[in-house]
Amino acid sequence: MVDPLKNDDQIEIPPDLPLLPVRDVVVFPYMILPLFVGRDKSIEAVEHAVGKNRLLMLVTQRDVQIEEPNPEDLYEVGTVAMVMRMLKLPDGRVKVLVQGVAKATVIEYVSRKPFFTVRVKRAVEAVAQGRALEAEALMRSVKTKIESILPMKNLPPEIVMITNAIEEPGRLADLVLSNLRLRVSESQKLLEVFDPMDRLEMAHDLLDREMEVSKMQERIQNSAKEEMSRTQREYYLREQLRAIKTELGEKDDRLSEMDELRAKIRDTKMPAHAEKEAMKQTGRLERMHPDTAEASMLRGFLDWMVELPWSKKTRDNLDLSKAKEVLDRDHAGLSKVKERILEYLSVKKLRRSIKGPILCFVGPPGVGKTSLGKSIARAMGRQFARISLGGVRDEAEVRGHRRTYVGALPGRILQGMKSAGTLNPVFMLDEIDKVGADFRGDPTSALLEVLDPEQNNSFSDHYLSVPFDLSQVLWVTTANLLDPIPPALKDRMEIIRLAGYTHEEKLDIAKGFLLVRQIEDHGLDASQIQFPDGAISRIITHYTREAGVRNLEREIGTVCRKVAREVAEGKTTHTRITAQNVQKYLGAPRYLPEVEQEQDEIGISTGLAWTEAGGEVLFVEVLITKGKGELILTGQLGDVMKESAQAALSFARSRAQLFHVDEDTFGKRQFHIHVPAGAIPKDGPSAGVTMATALISALTGIPVRKDVAMTGEITLRGRVLPIGGLKEKALAAVRMGIREILVPEQNRKDLEDVPKDVQAKMRFVFVKSMDEVLEHAFTDPAPVRVVGGGVPRRTPAKHGGAVPAYSRQQAQ
Ligand code: ADP
Repeated sequence: MVDPLKNDDQIEIPPDLPLLPVRDVVVFPYMILPLFVGRDKSIEAVEHAVGKNRLLMLVTQRDVQIEEPNPEDLYEVGTVAMVMRMLKLPDGRVKVLVQGVAKATVIEYVSRKPFFTVRVKRAVEAVAQGRALEAEALMRSVKTKIESILPMKNLPPEIVMITNAIEEPGRLADLVLSNLRLRVSESQKLLEVFDPMDRLEMAHDLLDREMEVSKMQERIQNSAKEEMSRTQREYYLREQLRAIKTELGEKDDRLSEMDELRAKIRDTKMPAHAEKEAMKQTGRLERMHPDTAEASMLRGFLDWMVELPWSKKTRDNLDLSKAKEVLDRDHAGLSKVKERILEYLSVKKLRRSIKGPILCFVGPPGVGKTSLGKSIARAMGRQFARISLGGVRDEAEVRGHRRTYVGALPGRILQGMKSAGTLNPVFMLDEIDKVGADFRGDPTSALLEVLDPEQNNSFSDHYLSVPFDLSQVLWVTTANLLDPIPPALKDRMEIIRLAGYTHEEKLDIAKGFLLVRQIEDHGLDASQIQFPDGAISRIITHYTREAGVRNLEREIGTVCRKVAREVAEGKTTHTRITAQNVQKYLGAPRYLPEVEQEQDEIGISTGLAWTEAGGEVLFVEVLITKGKGELILTGQLGDVMKESAQAALSFARSRAQLFHVDEDTFGKRQFHIHVPAGAIPKDGPSAGVTMATALISALTGIPVRKDVAMTGEITLRGRVLPIGGLKEKALAAVRMGIREILVPEQNRKDLEDVPKDVQAKMRFVFVKSMDEVLEHAFTDPAPVRVVGGGVPRRTPAKHGGAVPAYSRQQAQ
């Protein structure tokens, strides 16, 4: 503050004055300001001044931080000031009110104790002669600028009055400068300008700069304000529109939409915590601009919330005779499986609240796993949902993505629940053996949570973020193979195997179910098409090779479609399909049922494998050429299979003498074992005997019977160990027209699983050792027969026919 009215020019300034160093501020003449004095030295200086003429020399410190400034730390130009009032504060400091009197320069430091005393020279300032007009003009301009800057800087309006009264340029400049809140160094520089006109010009420029800055500030503030007021305005208008509409009796669309949503949320009867969340998000949506991305995300979320079956349930029908009826109506055969399902349902009926194990149907494609699941749902009067887990590697596929992701959705479990539409469906998880794990997380752990009765009443989906109750779901899973199912999941499941169908069973299924369905699906009626057993049999043997009936159904469908076209074109009214004319509809036969065994061969044996598609017949080929004892394996064999090939070779070597093979030849030969259908990966130990047989055949030159298939793991000493999947393998062998299979003795107990008609068509020979295998598999086993001896002799190894054929009667 400056009080310019008091003219202090007359105040006489003595040459020596006590010095008061000030920080943070540059004091200009005429400025009045309070100062807090805390340093002992300074307090003494003030007290000394007050005791004398009240005058002090104020100089600013170059560096604010310095506590005990020396002369070199202080500027030389300062202002002589008068202490107008002094107040001692309770904390020992002193507050003084000073007014600048005149600008002065420190000439020398007279004494340093107890405070600095300095000799000063008053600055004389006068406008140069002949510049009066210029001074007048500049002063006027500065005054107008002050007037226009006032409102921008929120300065008191009295300043205008004060400035108008000033007639000296230097004084006006000081007034402006002391009010502009400049930096200390900048102020000091201006203070040191002694020529009043120069100083005023500088003040003028500073005012200009200040005005620009202020204007800029204002512009920035205004544009921010504008943005805010635009959205506010829109909101008010919307509110007004809503009010007007209510007044007119029209319902606001958006309002009614939100009301509807709220009603829907209440209707679903979701649990309290879920309802709270849904209502909260509805509130947010209501307050939001409807076109924003977040609003559409919220809308999606709320749609899910109202569409999920939070409380909707079907009543279970646990009438066992009805369940049996449904199962029988939908499926031919499968008596054991149906039995297991009925037992399972009985336990459910008796122990309603207690959660039973989860059913898992294991078997090749097309054997009716899915349709059994549907039948269970139908028998119990529940809805049916099904998802496939094949190739699911990401936990998020089971548990969903967080809503913040663009395009996020709940996981497959909740999608299945939504499509089921009830809280207690029969839910089928297909291909549980094909769940994989990788860097995106392990879906198995999420599935464990889904299937665990202890946890699944509050299943957490990332998208939903509120728990969902899955505890009333009846879970059924399916798999092609048992081994790849993660053990933790396998533990929770009750495994039910479906091995595949025999020819007769397929015929029954086709007659009882597939035909009826296909005829109906193609818009035909029974009078228009006749499908006798012979025709179906022909399709089974010549057009399909599968454990299930999926392709059979498709081929029957193809025939029906072609007949439907003929009927529609008016070419026929009744068609009879026969074994002979099937070809007209389905083209040339795709498979020849008998093993293409023109002749028994050396170095080729017939094995049986158990794959995803059920059982399969495979051939093992061995070729021995010159080499250094290497064993080459081709045909995409897995590690276990490779090891069993090595075991087979070692066994053959250990028996070299018996086979009349020179032990040394092993080091000079290369053994190449190939399992054709090279594109399909194969693994498992059960081809051990097959590989050993082919190897020994190649070594000895004795052909192997093609109509004998074999399966079994082999030990180094030639013992034959048990295998899995006897039923599947037997079915495959029968399909291929094989009449005798060699099975490990320890699998004898599994024979009861093999359908009677298969047993009737095929001879099962149970073997304990490789010797027995060779005895049955070789066309002329004499040379290698161990038991029942005779003199070993070497049979001339000739390809085909030359060796006396080994008849079946002999083998028995
Ligand atoms: P999966 O799920 O095992 O691959 P599906 O259940 O899809 O096999 O069965 C394929 C088709 O075969 C379905 O149309 C099904 O109705 C039919 N099917 C399979 N087994 C039987 C059976 N025992 N009785 C009647 N139809 C069957």
